[in-house]
Amino acid sequence: MTLSPVTPDPSISEDLLAAGRKAYDLDRAHVFHSWSAQRAITPMTVLRAEGSHVWDGEGHRLIDFSSQLVNTNIGHSHPAVVRAIQEQAATIATINPAHVNAARSEAARLVADLAPGDLDHVFFTNAGADAVEHAVRMARLHTGRPKVLSAYRAYHGGTDLAFALTADPRRNAVDTARAGVVHFLPSYPYRSYFDATTEQEETERALAHLEQTILLEGPQSIAAVILESIPGTAGIYVPPAGYMEGVRELTRRHGILFIADEVMVGFGRTGEWFGVDHWGVVPDLLTFAKGVNSGYVPLGGVAMSEAVYETFAERPYPGGLTYSGHPLACAAAVATINAMEDEGMVAHAAHLGADVIGPRLREIMAAHPSVGDVRGLGAFWAVELVTDRATKEPMAPYGGSSPAMADLVAECRRLGMLPFQNMNRIHVAPPLNTPDEVVRHGLDVLDQALAVTDAHVTG
Ligand code: PLP
Repeated sequence: MTLSPVTPDPSISEDLLAAGRKAYDLDRAHVFHSWSAQRAITPMTVLRAEGSHVWDGEGHRLIDFSSQLVNTNIGHSHPAVVRAIQEQAATIATINPAHVNAARSEAARLVADLAPGDLDHVFFTNAGADAVEHAVRMARLHTGRPKVLSAYRAYHGGTDLAFALTADPRRNAVDTARAGVVHFLPSYPYRSYFDATTEQEETERALAHLEQTILLEGPQSIAAVILESIPGTAGIYVPPAGYMEGVRELTRRHGILFIADEVMVGFGRTGEWFGVDHWGVVPDLLTFAKGVNSGYVPLGGVAMSEAVYETFAERPYPGGLTYSGHPLACAAAVATINAMEDEGMVAHAAHLGADVIGPRLREIMAAHPSVGDVRGLGAFWAVELVTDRATKEPMAPYGGSSPAMADLVAECRRLGMLPFQNMNRIHVAPPLNTPDEVVRHGLDVLDQALAVTDAHVTG
């Protein structure tokens, strides 16, 4: 069946459309946008957001396959969370973080309960980047060592140190070759940096490379290895069997702390509460943000092991934030986690991956020569577009986009689905509670839209 372009939703009033046009004009006059050449962009206006849908500036209803920046794990406007924020605002809207407040205490208890192993103490931050900054600071003070190792291609945040740890092309423009940051090659089976042809080879060679990096840098100078449990922005390449366990073993052997960056995958995205749970790996520090409260109010944090906690049990931790554990953000986290538990959202994400998204994406790959690879877990999948399957030539260059990719995104939107695009990839990351039939419809849109990139196949 051929899908038709979506038409404006008649329930969107003329007044709302007019308010959207005004907001757009003010945006272009006064708002400075992230990561963008300001005059080169035409940002999409959002008039309404509900569950797994958003309405654009012309009133088209789109399935949100991006979860915005992969944060609305419970969808938009979840009533229980909206209510919790309203109730919290009516009691204690904000408070000095030195004081105890009930929302923060309960949020910390819930995070500690869900986090693996002995990660029982939580420092709350405003978002993911500052969670990474504090995790590294804790690791440096705990070990007395200066260096931190992170993977090439990774994204760890936009603040100074988090951006230095980031090794995607956006960093290059402002890189200060910051002392103490060393990068290593990630495990990325589809485009193996180690010429591996099997998962086992990839695991063995990627771990041997990391071990050599550690030995050549000098283990006694390395405080931590930080790794996204499943690299997100860089391409959702799920680590091959044994890799994460190997990183844990290597770091432990050399007295190096392992920081799992769970900012994008934490809180159910991959069908487990945390990415590391897929491999039973317990890091020393775990950073989180986004899904902890679906981003309804900015919140991030670091969960730390008993040993790291003990370092700061008798000596002060040199760090803090005015809004550490902000009551509105923490009330939203408590309500979000409870809603996820009550409504079985993590299990539903696992089901979506195993029974809906994975099988359908494999069918789509078989039908479309421009699809080079599909991979993922739970509600977190990448579709990698190529012009030639044999050479794996990407449909857009590393660090850029291309007319073919821009046209693919436009076609998805025309047919009613909002995708997440990065370079030559489309990421399929709907809210975890999206009903099967809505996800199926979004995948039908992708299937039809891929005719656009198929036309650019040269191989
Ligand atoms: N770490 C990872 C793995 C991320 O994906 C992100 C954001 O996408 C960050 C850190 C930074 O989080 P924030 O944008 O909340 O600072």
